[in-house]
Amino acid sequence: MTTAVSLKAITRRFGDVLALDAIDLDIVEGEFFAMLGPSGSGKTTCLRVIAGFEQPSSGELAIFGERAETVPPYKRNVNTVFQDYALFPHLNVIDNVAYSLMLRKVERSERYRQAEAALEMVKLSGYGARRPGQLSGGQRQRVALARALVNRPKVLLLDEPLGALDLKLREQMQEELKSLQKRLGITFIFVTHDQGEAMSMADRIAVFNLGRIMQVGTPEEIYLTPASRFVADFVGSSNVLPPDFVGTLTGKPGWASLRPEAVTVTAGAGASLTGMVVSRSYLGATTRLTVDIAGQRIHAVMPSGPAMPEEGEQVAVSFDPSALHRLADAP
Ligand code: ATP
Repeated sequence: MTTAVSLKAITRRFGDVLALDAIDLDIVEGEFFAMLGPSGSGKTTCLRVIAGFEQPSSGELAIFGERAETVPPYKRNVNTVFQDYALFPHLNVIDNVAYSLMLRKVERSERYRQAEAALEMVKLSGYGARRPGQLSGGQRQRVALARALVNRPKVLLLDEPLGALDLKLREQMQEELKSLQKRLGITFIFVTHDQGEAMSMADRIAVFNLGRIMQVGTPEEIYLTPASRFVADFVGSSNVLPPDFVGTLTGKPGWASLRPEAVTVTAGAGASLTGMVVSRSYLGATTRLTVDIAGQRIHAVMPSGPAMPEEGEQVAVSFDPSALHRLADAP
């Protein structure tokens, strides 16, 4: 396994703000890697350090084994797709895509050949003569992608690449990006604050908070075995249960997470845990219930069915004890 990008104790300060606090991270060649976190957590700064638009205050960055902190962006084997796409409005699509080849003095017919091939990769053959203003949001996104791919980078950096698209198009582009990445075998590193997007596309995810990486793992690891309260809270809509409550359930106090889909709610009392339904939302295939158990709220997501308890109803709450996942006591 070759390491594509390696960060060692990378720190970036802006005045008093510690945007990146001693980040250690290795990204493997061919990975689809997501940097996930709330606004201001440092993920964009981390991406910009890899791209070369930002210098680390300290620490080491290597790209394919070569130290890169002082290498200018255009000499790194990486390309960035920006959130606003940064297309030239006065150039048509093919010239937008061929632009960087022109700067590199690639001969005219060759650069159009390569630009056509890049447009074909993103399923935009035949759109070369249009201006960006004559395209839909999703098509503009693909032009931006083609413009980066035409340079055949070994690493593609994507900053909230689907942020400007509506939900349906975003879901479609998630699938397309993933299959394109698998086909080309290029390392993709993308920034998002949308956990669903990170889960559906990435091979591995780094969860950022306050300039630090809280956990790195596959979507399953992050979802099923969050390392901390922050990760459990941020990724998915888990129940994060406080020590006292967990103590009454198990005899052993401590923070724990419990996935809503592991919880079963049935009408009537009887089980050891009983409570009252305080809200019920029908989501189609599933129904989400919130139950109040002596002041502690528990969310459950169950397959929708005819006998769903109503709001205000007394219910029994149960789950397999193995579904209770212990969390570190630190946030
Ligand atoms: P978002 O999802 O909102 O883009 P982010 O996780 O990408 O957030 P960053 O943009 O990396 O976060 O910002 C991390 C922190 O660094 C924030 O507190 C931000 O205000 C600060 N910061 C980023 N760039 C600069 C800058 N050029 N000057 C001063 N502070 C900055």
